[in-house]
Amino acid sequence: MDPAQIREYLEFYRDIGFDSIYRLSNDAPAALLPISMPSPLPGLAPDHDTLDQIRLDIGDCKRCGLCEARTNIVFGSGNEKASLVFVGEGPGADEDDQGLPFVGRAGQLLTQMIENTASKEGIPIRRPDVYICNVVKCRPPENRTPQPDEMEICGQFLFRQLETIRPKAICVLGATAMKALLNTKEGITRSRGKWHKWRDIPVMITYHPSYLLRQYNQQAKREAWEDLKTLLHFVYD
Ligand code: SF4
Repeated sequence: MDPAQIREYLEFYRDIGFDSIYRLSNDAPAALLPISMPSPLPGLAPDHDTLDQIRLDIGDCKRCGLCEARTNIVFGSGNEKASLVFVGEGPGADEDDQGLPFVGRAGQLLTQMIENTASKEGIPIRRPDVYICNVVKCRPPENRTPQPDEMEICGQFLFRQLETIRPKAICVLGATAMKALLNTKEGITRSRGKWHKWRDIPVMITYHPSYLLRQYNQQAKREAWEDLKTLLHFVYD
C-alpha cells in the first residue's frame, strides 16, 4: 500500500470516529501477533489552521516510536509567512538538544548556502526570512532514516505546516523528504534541479546539506548551489 492509500485509510477511520490505531508486529508468527500500544491519530486540520495550533496538537507526542529517545520535539523555525519553506528529513543530535531545526554542521552549511547565494544574486533575504522544518519532528536513534510509518504519521503535521504557510515554493532537502512529499521512486540525482509539485505548490529538490559536507561531493555541492539559485530567483524575483 503506498503512502497516499495509507493516508486515505487513516482519514476514513478518523472520519468515522476512530481516534487510535493498532500496529501489528512483523516479528512474530501470524497466530501470535501481539498488538502494540495504540497510536493516536494526528488531529484533523481545522479550518483556519495555524502553526501554533499544529504545535498544540502535537503536544507531548507519542504517536510513533521516535518519541522514545528524543529530548525535544523539533517543530520548525523561521518566518511563519515565508515565501519559501525548506523541508529536511529529521532532527540530528544538535537539533534534538536545542529543539531547533538545522542548527548543527549541516544547518550551518544550509544557512551559508541560502545567505551566500542570495547575496551573490542580489536577493535581499537571510535565513530568518524562510521557514525550515523536517518530515519527522523527533530524532531517529543513531540518525537512522525514519521508517515509512513514522513518516506517514508525523508527515501529517508537516503537511499541515505547509498548508498553513502556503509558500510560493518548497525546497526538499534529500531523498527521504523527497519520498515523503512526492511519493516518487526516482533517485535524487535524477530528480534534483527540476520542478515538481506538492499539491499545487512548486517543489525544487536538492541534496541534503549533510550529504554535501562530505569532501568527495564537490560536484554535488556545485549542483546544489545551482538548484538554490534557480529556486531563489523563482521565489523572490
Ligand atoms: S516523530 Fe512525530 S509522530 Fe513521532 S513521536 Fe515525534 S512528533 Fe510524534
